[in-house]
Amino acid sequence: MVRVDPRHTSTDCHACGHRQDMPLDVREFACGGCGLVTDRDVNAARNILQRGIALAGWDIGSLGRPGASESVLEPHVAGLPGQDAERYAAD
Ligand SMILES: [Zn+2]
Repeated sequence: MVRVDPRHTSTDCHACGHRQDMPLDVREFACGGCGLVTDRDVNAARNILQRGIALAGWDIGSLGRPGASESVLEPHVAGLPGQDAERYAAD
């Protein structure tokens, strides 16, 4: 287990590092730095993963780095945005 600093994990862009203040009720992360648009929780999860990888000192090539191939991580997050959309639609 690796403990990571959770501060700004949902407000820092996992792709470019741009930080933007967002009220908690805004669930979509739309980066003002690079234009990335993704689910807020998915962005936070990727930041946590990147911090954990950095703290662990793993040498895993480009995985977890900004601009890394999304395909490596996709199986772990596939379906999340769609599930959220369905949940919100049912509310
Ligand atoms: Zn960005």
